[in-house]
Amino acid sequence: MVLIAGAGPVGLCAANVLADAGVPVTVLEAEPRLPENLRASTFQPPTLDMLARLGAAQRLIEMGRVAPRLQYRDRAGWAAELDFGVIADETAHPYRVQCEQYRLNQVLAERLAPKARIEFGCEVTDVRQDSDSVTVSVNGTREIRARWLIGADGGRSRVREALGIRLEGFTWPERFLVASTPFDFAAALPGLCDVAYFADPEEWFFLLRVPGVWRAMFPVREEEKDDEAISDASIQRRLRRVHAWASGYEIHHRTLYPVHQRVAQSYRKGRCFLAGDAAHLNNPLGGMGMNGGIHDAFNLAEKLAAVIGNLADAAELDRYERQRRPVALEYVNTITIANKRNLEAKDPEAHRRWKAEMTRTAADPRLAREYMLRTSMIASLRKYACA
Ligand SMILES: Cc1cc2nc3c(=O)[nH]c(=O)nc-3n(C[C@H](O)[C@H](O)[C@H](O)COP(=O)(O)OP(=O)(O)OC[C@H]3O[C@@H](n4cnc5c(N)ncnc54)[C@H](O)[C@@H]3O)c2cc1C
Repeated sequence: MVLIAGAGPVGLCAANVLADAGVPVTVLEAEPRLPENLRASTFQPPTLDMLARLGAAQRLIEMGRVAPRLQYRDRAGWAAELDFGVIADETAHPYRVQCEQYRLNQVLAERLAPKARIEFGCEVTDVRQDSDSVTVSVNGTREIRARWLIGADGGRSRVREALGIRLEGFTWPERFLVASTPFDFAAALPGLCDVAYFADPEEWFFLLRVPGVWRAMFPVREEEKDDEAISDASIQRRLRRVHAWASGYEIHHRTLYPVHQRVAQSYRKGRCFLAGDAAHLNNPLGGMGMNGGIHDAFNLAEKLAAVIGNLADAAELDRYERQRRPVALEYVNTITIANKRNLEAKDPEAHRRWKAEMTRTAADPRLAREYMLRTSMIASLRKYACA
């Protein structure tokens, strides 16, 4: 049996792939039910290609918004627009789908139900292993033994901690504030795409449309206190700088969270693996965190299913870390850090150079294609496929 700690998008993808291959699997979830909090909401083209194998991509398309283009803009009216159509020969889904991640979790849990169990209210509190098995303590009161364990238990992973694996990297001094509003930004800002990153040396922001609302993301400086940052006054002030709307914005939801760029020192220890946020954390500018985690889940679960089914040698499992850790370290970290630096650049010359480069990229089909292969994460999967 394979045990999976965590019923987030990563744990549930891995569970579905394993269960489809006939591998007995149990998911242990600390919460009493599937959390419905608002977090990631971007599904990239190769992620949709993978989820299509589970029948989940179509469900996301039906529940979410298809975003065929993305934009970089500034407050003065400059815009560079890129279209996923330039990579239509590389993916069955040449667009991003914008849909709240908890909706994917519901689809995956429903699909898993006839084949495997999700045990709610079961927090993994400790992990021990020997050469044949892994023993997991649940709620500190009982133990479960299995052949393999996947730690998909999020950024504060207890599995990672119990295995003594360090999460190396840094935490940004600022936090990110996300507020959602039904206000129609598309009507207020001419030519606005569903995904739009606005560069500004004072306060960059990011607008992203999901069904029913726009989500606006802003940086919050170190010196600003949490309760100030998340207050109505702070959110209204920030939104009014996006568009001066005298009536005041209706706010449906707000979150403030710390942002990290960290990668686990290793993705495997013996019979235990880390995947998703348990293995890597990055800033959300680029929509790569959850997507990279889902790519981990497919990669690892397919390898585990092949080894358990005697279709591959056990050495195949070592390729998981070789293929996936460099993506988090060299690729996702590099792109998401560059995205943040470009949006916040204070040096006018650096800002001008970046705008000129994005304008040139958007206008040149060859450059646009290279850019979209990278930003959609297709290039990350290709680069390390043979590692
Ligand atoms: C507040 C917040 C806002 C975010 N917003 C964005 C965003 O706007 N854009 C973006 O791209 N990304 C965002 N992210 C990141 C994104 O949500 C993650 O990359 C994604 O959820 C990773 O999926 P996962 O399955 O690895 O982990 P998670 O989704 O965190 O799932 C882990 C699951 O494990 C469970 N669990 C935890 N500990 C245990 C345990 N010991 N035993 C059993 N179960 C356990 C948890 O309850 C949870 O259900 C946000 C993250 C947070 C925390």
